Amino acid sequence: MNIQHYKQRLLDLERTLSAQIGQEADQGRGEFIDSAHDVGDASVADEVASEEFTEAEHNSDVLQQVRDALGRVADGTFGTCIVDGGPIEEQRLEALPWTPYCLKHAHRLEVAASSRTPTL
Ligand SMILES: [Zn+2]
Repeated sequence: MNIQHYKQRLLDLERTLSAQIGQEADQGRGEFIDSAHDVGDASVADEVASEEFTEAEHNSDVLQQVRDALGRVADGTFGTCIVDGGPIEEQRLEALPWTPYCLKHAHRLEVAASSRTPTL
């Protein structure tokens, strides 16, 4: 596995996502403030703003994972599943270079997340 290749992609992603998060947060605020004095459109502006914030939140989740992955590049554990330490499929890393899970464990977590029940 070519770590440098993934490291470069992660660094690019980190830069792109950081820039997007800044822009989206500004846009969201800007639209909300611009149309806030027009009462009729306030709810629409609200919706648009919250959609953009949600997108920004998603990006910041991915950004966090990208940074975690760069940490794993640094400590030499990149490309191994954090559940069982097994190798992560290269195809999977190619699609999601920040993923900390192999295919098997990612599926399990997706299933767990979609049928989430409080376990506390
Ligand atoms: Zn695994």
